[in-house]
Amino acid sequence: MSGQRILIVEDEPDIAEVLAYNLGKDGFAVELADRGDEALAQIRRDPPDLILLDLMLPGLDGLELTRALKRNAATAGIPLIMLTARGEEVDRIVGFELGADDYITKPFSPREVVLRAKAVLRRAPLAEEKDSGTGRLEIGSLILDPEAHRCAVDGEEISLTATEFRLLHVLIERAGRVQTRGRLLSDVWGYVDDIDSRTVDTHIRRLRRKLGPEAERIETVIGVGYRLTL
Ligand code: CA
Repeated sequence: MSGQRILIVEDEPDIAEVLAYNLGKDGFAVELADRGDEALAQIRRDPPDLILLDLMLPGLDGLELTRALKRNAATAGIPLIMLTARGEEVDRIVGFELGADDYITKPFSPREVVLRAKAVLRRAPLAEEKDSGTGRLEIGSLILDPEAHRCAVDGEEISLTATEFRLLHVLIERAGRVQTRGRLLSDVWGYVDDIDSRTVDTHIRRLRRKLGPEAERIETVIGVGYRLTL
């Protein structure tokens, strides 16, 4: 774990300092930026392994910075955790749509930040989204075989509708990353406008019923969407 570089983009010195101290203690090499525009230049010059990003920033705000990073192939794959305040739910959803990996709500415990940072770094290779591979996917006792269109839990075959299958496939491929309802609607159903998020909730409910002992893997992220836990 040691030696991995984390860039903290935060304009409140007290928060930045506490984060830097705790991450440093855990063996991370910590860098700091207190403006969005300067952070962008810094990241382009020397991409870190993970970015902790405050949303309200001078220069360029957190969402603008995320947008700029995701537009550029050289920086698009860097995992990113948003630091958000209460009342920033809308920004949080936009952040996920833009490709953020996780978020932490202020006030937070430094310990929690360290654990989340480690979790995101651990699953970082998964963030490279391949074009729906056809290989067998396995998480816990859950097995999904896209080529044969088969799903099994604990060795028992489970019958899924085409939509349920696609939904589970997307969740497994992006395991560990929050998927907003909007994202799921566009990637599973192909809707872009005319979004009725209840469609997603209904299918998730059915999927959970069918998954039995593995149902808990599909975690509800309140106000945002769903995440399949590893
Ligand atoms: Ca701020």
